Amino acid sequence: MKSRIEGAGTAPLRRASRILVVEDEPGMVLALEDALRGEGYEVAASADGIAGQKEAATGRHDLLILDVMLPGRDGFQVCQNLRAAGLRTPILMLTARSSTIDTVMGLRLGADDYLTKPFEMQVLLARVQALLRRAEAARAEAVQADPGRVVHAPLPAGSYHFGAFRLDTETMQLLKGDVPVPLNVQEFRLLEVFVRNPNKVLSRDALLSEAWGYDTETTTRTVDVHLAWLRQKLGEKDFPRHLITVRGFGYRFVPEP
Ligand code: CA
Repeated sequence: MKSRIEGAGTAPLRRASRILVVEDEPGMVLALEDALRGEGYEVAASADGIAGQKEAATGRHDLLILDVMLPGRDGFQVCQNLRAAGLRTPILMLTARSSTIDTVMGLRLGADDYLTKPFEMQVLLARVQALLRRAEAARAEAVQADPGRVVHAPLPAGSYHFGAFRLDTETMQLLKGDVPVPLNVQEFRLLEVFVRNPNKVLSRDALLSEAWGYDTETTTRTVDVHLAWLRQKLGEKDFPRHLITVRGFGYRFVPEP
């Protein structure tokens, strides 16, 4: 699946939330896709438990909508396997009947919320929004607890906007408008580290370990050299706008100068 820029996701450094629907009833899948896309979400779908679990395990999604009754592997089992594998993506389970056992079971196995079929689409959308907001708040809290903390996890696949640029972490491309800006792998990695750590001062050591890894023979001078190349490609060699030198500390990435 290619990343797409959608209406709701074009704000700087924001992307549309990605939702995976694991459901085998084609009519239900269509209805969910329609409703969710109408809200600006990106939607992918899997029609059975095995494929759904595999897709979910990639961690590319912000939320899973998981039906209980599935061919291949039931939703409970999928949920349990994903949580056992350490996946923390919010899961909204769809249970076929209003059975207390089903809902308790789902929540016990690690689902975050559940809905009983049939349900009102507006109710589902409200639950989806609440789960996404809760996950976002938890992330923000973690960052706030330690504002200087470097984010180590690679950015989820998608498009990230800053200034006139768009970094696509799926195709590993930088675009200025529609025009690709050629970056080598190392420049791309360095830029990705900045984009995932906006407005933070990053030391040369931090940049080296994030973009090159510890086991290289590169020195902090390498960081300066690559940074100069990156500035040149962003067209800010003489007047840095996005990549700002913080004397005595390192560099700071400013998404919207
Ligand atoms: Ca089903």
